[in-house]
Amino acid sequence: MKKIKLLFLGGILSNFLIGQTPVSLNGSLSVQGNQIVNKNNTVVSFAGPSLFWSNTWWGGEDYYTKEVVSWVKSDWNATIIRASMGVEANGGYISDTTNKARVKVVVDEAINQGMYVIIDWHSHHAEDYKTQAIEFFKEMANTYGDYDNVIYEIYNEPLQISWSNVIKPYAEDVIEAIREIDSDNLIIVGTPTWSQDVDVASNDPITGYDNIAYTLHFYAGTHTQNLRDKAITALNNGIALMVTEWGAVNANGDGAVDETETNLWMDFLCDNNLTHCNWALNDKNEGASALVQGASTTGGWSQSDLTTSGNLVKDIVVNWCGGLATNQGEIQNNAINIVAYPNPLQENLTINLNSNNDSETLTITDTFGRVVWKHEKKNQSQLQINTSYLQAGTYFLEVANGIEIRTIKLIKK
Ligand code: MG
Repeated sequence: MKKIKLLFLGGILSNFLIGQTPVSLNGSLSVQGNQIVNKNNTVVSFAGPSLFWSNTWWGGEDYYTKEVVSWVKSDWNATIIRASMGVEANGGYISDTTNKARVKVVVDEAINQGMYVIIDWHSHHAEDYKTQAIEFFKEMANTYGDYDNVIYEIYNEPLQISWSNVIKPYAEDVIEAIREIDSDNLIIVGTPTWSQDVDVASNDPITGYDNIAYTLHFYAGTHTQNLRDKAITALNNGIALMVTEWGAVNANGDGAVDETETNLWMDFLCDNNLTHCNWALNDKNEGASALVQGASTTGGWSQSDLTTSGNLVKDIVVNWCGGLATNQGEIQNNAINIVAYPNPLQENLTINLNSNNDSETLTITDTFGRVVWKHEKKNQSQLQINTSYLQAGTYFLEVANGIEIRTIKLIKK
């Protein structure tokens, strides 16, 4: 009887029963071209909540508990969580280092649960606290650099300041310090205008380091297609993005949930394999909060403990990208899974083909629809093409398996 009941208990529990977690399935994450891939070079995206500012006496710090982390893993099917360590504001890390202990509670439990976890330097003026950022991230890298779970986010939301003259030099110094200790874990870099100007960063990307991605933030009540267009520009320029924070409400964190625009964004994130964390797992009386005021700080929340936003977000996370989360690291039957890099093209284009299909047809066409390259995949997992014969312009790599077609836009400069 017991056995039969267990069969009805969904993917997450069966994964748990056989000892699999998001991190055991996917291992270390890395950046290939404009995509984030797992240990098998498969494109992946993860979904979960972001905790609120950790600042002392702000209220959000109460939810930095191991019970909350384990609850969102088991009840929300969250594969990632973000710890947002307040820096310069009242009660933040600069004046109160107990914030670091709060972050470590979350990171330690995420590692225990096999989830990915973002250590976020939650600041709007990080360039003014670079010395402290370097000291903090060196400690985090020494403590956690060997864990595949950990992602460093070194600048939450820069204001309207220069990418090339302020943010990029700050980021390079912090990255250098982290990379002296931890050579590989993902590092996410904030972009100008509250992490919206990813297109600006993509015109002058950080070079010389592996596994660097860039922050895109949006609030669905405020930001619409023109911000998605900026993200497309950045992806086409070849940088990888991560949505470390987004809201279903207005950019000030308040207002009503915009479900229509949220769904447009979620389709966009799923289509482009963008990992995301929702702002915020907190009970403050504002639209973005996932929890109603006074909700338990040890999880166990029912539907009535979640706000309108919280219920929508939980539904998104549980079902992320068609159930992708529960299958992360396993390749779904017949689904095309492809990554092509570098993009924009250099001499050689590498194409990783990760699906279970024995045969797939690959073509590259120009903007007139003329086929400039064609290949039949036969049990290959990786191809390399010399593209030096292509003239500058836009091309489309299409992969078809008889059931679905995937298209990737390629740029030759
Ligand atoms: Mg490492």
